[in-house]
Parts: sequence; C-alpha cells; structure tokens
Amino acid sequence: MNNRQLFLSHLAQTTDFPLMLEIEKAEGVYMYGPDGKSYIDLISGIGVSNVGHRHPKIIHAIQSQLEKYLHLMVYGEYIQSPQVQLAKALCETLPPSLNNVYLVNSGSEAVEGALKLAKRFTNRREIISCINAYHGSSHGSLSVGGNEIFKRAYRPLLPGIKNVVYGSFGQLDEITENTAAVIVETIQGEAGIRIASKEYFQALRKKCNETGTLLILDEIQAGFGRTGKFWAFEHFDIVPDILVCAKGMGGGMPIGAFIAGQEVMGVFKNNPLLGHITTFGGHPVSSAASLATIQIIQNEKLLEKVDEKAELFKKLLVHHKIKSIRNKGLMMAVEFESFEVLKPIIDRAIEKGVITDWFLFCDDAMRIAPPLVITHEEIEKACNIILEAING
Ligand code: PMP
Repeated sequence: MNNRQLFLSHLAQTTDFPLMLEIEKAEGVYMYGPDGKSYIDLISGIGVSNVGHRHPKIIHAIQSQLEKYLHLMVYGEYIQSPQVQLAKALCETLPPSLNNVYLVNSGSEAVEGALKLAKRFTNRREIISCINAYHGSSHGSLSVGGNEIFKRAYRPLLPGIKNVVYGSFGQLDEITENTAAVIVETIQGEAGIRIASKEYFQALRKKCNETGTLLILDEIQAGFGRTGKFWAFEHFDIVPDILVCAKGMGGGMPIGAFIAGQEVMGVFKNNPLLGHITTFGGHPVSSAASLATIQIIQNEKLLEKVDEKAELFKKLLVHHKIKSIRNKGLMMAVEFESFEVLKPIIDRAIEKGVITDWFLFCDDAMRIAPPLVITHEEIEKACNIILEAING
C-alpha cells in the first residue's frame, strides 16, 4: 500500500474533507510534496509555524537539547534549564502580574488547567464562555466551547457552563459572585475572526474585578505575534488573570501553557488536593524550541512588519466575489458568498500551490494566517494564485 492508502485505511480520520496532500519537507513559508511540487502555507499549520517551518534557530535549539536529555520526570519535579528559561522569557513578554507559568502539551490541556485553577482559586463552580468559541477538544475544553453541534454527541459535559454572546455588553450581567471564571478567546478564531471592541474588554475586565471572577484569555490562536502584538490582549489595554497559549508557542513542537500570578497559581501546590499533573508537559525539546521562537520573534522584529503585510494582503485581494476581509494583523478571514463558492476556490488554490482553509464554525470565509516571516514577494505570489483560483 502507498502512503495515501495507508492514510485512509489505518489512520483515524477527523473530517470528511481531509486535505490529503502528502508533504515531504517544509521550510519557511513553503511545503513540498514528494514530486517536488511546492505550496505556500498560508495557514501556518493552523497558527503554529508563526516563525516559518523549520526555522534554523529552532532546529539548532532542538538539536542542542537532543544532545543533553529528552524526558526526565513528570512536569514540576526536576529543575530543567529549557523549562525555567522559557518560563522567564515568557514572563518578560507579559505584564508583571502574570509571572507564573504552568507548561503543558497542547492548547486543550492548557484550557483544562486554567479551568481547574479558576475553580480551585475561587471555590466557585460556574464558568461563562462565549457562543462560537473554540477552546479545544477534550471534555472540559469542549464543555466551554460555544458550538452546540460539536457538543451534542458528548453530553453530559461539565455542568455550570453558561454561553454568552462574544462582545455583547448586555450579557455582562450574567457574570456574578457565583462565577469562577469567564473564558474568552481574545479574538475568536474558529468563529471566523471576530474581534470585540476595546470598550467591551474593558467592561468585561471591570465586571470580573467587581465580582471576584477570574478572566481567562485564550490566546492559543491569537498569541505569539499573530496579531502584530506579542499578545492580542495588548490591543485592548487589559490584563487577564489567566492566559492560555499553545500552537505558535512551540515553533512547530507541541507545547502549551497557562499562565497566572503567583497567588492564583499557588493554590495548585497545596497537598493533598491534586492540582494538575502532566507527564510530558513542557517537554524539554519543545521548551527549547519555544524559547528559540520567542527569541526569533524579538530578534527578527517580526511584530513590526505584521500590519504592513496584512495591509498588502488586503490591497491585493480585491475581487467582486470577495465580500469583506476581517483581520487583526495576520489573523485574517476573507469572506465569500457561501461554502459552495469558497470550497472550489480553496481546492483550485491548492492545485496551483497555495494552501488556505475555512474555519470550524465559519465555512464561508477563507482562513489566511501565514508565517509572520512571509515576504512581500511571497504575499504577491500567493494573492495572484488566490485571484486566479477565484476566477476558475
Ligand atoms: N483554543 C483555541 C482558540 C484554538 O484555536 C485551539 C486550536 N484550534 C485550541 C484552543 C485547542 O488547541 P489544541 O488543538 O492544541 O488542543
């Protein structure tokens, strides 16, 4: 059997529409098939390769760590240099109140940890989250997700979850002294790039302060430079109580984190109650890659160029079939009439060498989230191909 047949017969499927492209190598913004055909990856493996595929500094960091050790012990026991150096570097990107980092393996696990932490710290049980939110696929993170169709088959899920409309001032009164936490994607990703106003975030922060509710911001998709700031919440002049990140954090390696202040995080260390335990969380190779990712974003000044690159996409992607473009930096949704219009465009673009996608909860918009290192020439090339694909 060839790899295509093995994919279909032995690898568990997750969708009716797998991309089914065989990729043999990836470098920078490009991915290459076995026949040498090249593709511009405009989705960064869905928000992961923010610094490009196989950035040489990440490869170097991984190789150096391979020479030392792989796994030693469950997270939180031995002092491992990649983990502590990463935690320090992360805290240096953040306001001083977010100074304690819990390293895990993935976005969903980071959300699980954040929810448990909020319950434990506040001794409350109710959680508020948003309609059309995506926070992950494990039971807890699915429970705070905001899509009924996704949740239906898995009920009963966590009790005490209320969904409100993202960005709605009217529903802030749902937050009361019974609410342990409000979990919000700073920018809703899978809903098709929805951006609430600064005034909303400030009112949300105020309401959480008044009721003693913890504000959890999920920046698994929006963090690590994607929007032009290191963290998306910097656009809104607020600071969360718990921040969750993953995806772009590892520069292509699996890692996630939930980050809080010492006081909040401190409740997890009190025996005999279990806090959160993870065997592989903050794997040293992933931590080394993540530290390199932070350094690349800073040293290559990637944030400074995000807005001008986004503007170039918006200038070039003009076509009567494109209804609108929603974006914060290089987190973009290009809206079409319907999925029926969009799907063949995505297929033709792949055929011509550009990879895009739609969103889990928004299938009439094209996802564009390229590596932040993409050049102007690569943007022009990709946009020309998308326009050709639109024209058929
Ligand atoms: N939150 C958000 C906003 C996400 O976009 C995702 C992944 N799409 C997750 C959580 C879950 O992350 P993971 O797939 O690493 O579990």
